[in-house]
Amino acid sequence: MLFNRTILYLCYVLLCFSTSTSANTESHEHDEYRVQLDTERKLLMVVACFKTVVPDSLIAGSANANSLITSASLGQKPGQQALLINRARITLNSNAKEPCVNYQVDLKKLINTSDTGRINVNIGNTLSSKAGDWLWLPAGDTRTVRIRFSLAEGLVASAPWRLISRTKRDTVFEFSTDEAINESRVYIGQFALRELQVKGAKVRLVIMGKISTSKIDKLTAWIRYGAESIVALYGHFPLVDPQIVIFPIGSYDSAVPWGEVQRDGGCVANLYVDQTRPLKELIGDWTLIHELSHMIHPYLDMSGRWLTEGIATYYQNVLQARVGTLTEKKAWLKLHQGFQRGIKETEPGESLVNISSKMRENRMYMRVYWSGVALALKADVVLRKNNNSSLDTVLEKFQGCCLSPNRTWSPSEYISKLDELSNSKVFSELYEEYAYSDKFPELNELYELLGLVANKNKVSLSTNTDAKNLRQAIMGKRKQ
Ligand SMILES: [Zn+2]
Repeated sequence: MLFNRTILYLCYVLLCFSTSTSANTESHEHDEYRVQLDTERKLLMVVACFKTVVPDSLIAGSANANSLITSASLGQKPGQQALLINRARITLNSNAKEPCVNYQVDLKKLINTSDTGRINVNIGNTLSSKAGDWLWLPAGDTRTVRIRFSLAEGLVASAPWRLISRTKRDTVFEFSTDEAINESRVYIGQFALRELQVKGAKVRLVIMGKISTSKIDKLTAWIRYGAESIVALYGHFPLVDPQIVIFPIGSYDSAVPWGEVQRDGGCVANLYVDQTRPLKELIGDWTLIHELSHMIHPYLDMSGRWLTEGIATYYQNVLQARVGTLTEKKAWLKLHQGFQRGIKETEPGESLVNISSKMRENRMYMRVYWSGVALALKADVVLRKNNNSSLDTVLEKFQGCCLSPNRTWSPSEYISKLDELSNSKVFSELYEEYAYSDKFPELNELYELLGLVANKNKVSLSTNTDAKNLRQAIMGKRKQ
């Protein structure tokens, strides 16, 4: 599904708790922001202390921030010298000895800045915000910043940044100011947090709203299944601290009607889930595996969407077969039927790159997604047949050298890197052949090698040993 799709969160700030906690001082090698909620005055109280050099000014991370901030002054508490806030900039008195600045943000206005999207979700007593709406950061040089949320009992904070520590009252995150954190979604309120250890990663799970412990346990088991399915790709999870946010939406016409991956300040998969469904039905839905499969590739711009959706959709099916959710035959059938949908939507006249760039307007998802799957499958087969390698191996190498949620790659950069890592021209040759073509990728030779015998919307599997082995190498069950 889509990246960076914004969603309307119906947020209600909890208004019945006090905010009398204080932060401990931690390491001095970074700037530290302390964030508290003043629920009586409905303010977010921020104190920023600069441990290295006091900056000349703080700048806002969004166009909304200027209208949300109510005041700023020198020192850790309001009342000292007021600071000028003008045109999304707080000017500091650089001659002052004071290393701290405090400012306040109007929560009433903050919660009104929620975005509109596809599914309305009631996330109960939780404040949902974009960091850029309230986080004013030092202008100029790159710095390491720690954000300490000091919250009243019963409240927790969640952000996609690196988690440094979490105690009953305090949660500390860290990021560098050269990371794109303005769109980072930050939640403060009452929701469930879980940590899941899978090979290669500690998955941070956030379950919004107020649901029963048994449902939280069920959703946690479902996420564990999903994360372990990704491990079946190359033996470990691609990211060390991925975050997954579940929005329970109640009874719905499908188990997981929406999922998306966001990469602003850290990789997060958001999943909208009918929590009333039994675990078996949640596992039977492909959305979770699809979204987590997006964590194996970097962020590409829209012209590369066919590549990233192709990789995610390919592995969504392959990994479900490897962990036994789909039989091998069913997985091949799903690929075949997907290709048929892509072929049906492909009309002469526009290249795949053009269609991919305008996918949201033209809604030609099937052509875009399944052309990408054809590239992924073809690359996998060629690497296995001719290069004694596989797509799994190349993507694992990419993970080892280059997978960072903070970098955007152009499609051609990504393709070149995959060529380099596979010591081949497999990816660039397929890219050249497909990207600028107005035809759906040719499948006959691929089907022959795999022993897939197509009959309209059905597919049967040949008994040829080479073909069988190749199919098995791709889809065969893996030991967990
Ligand atoms: Zn997707």
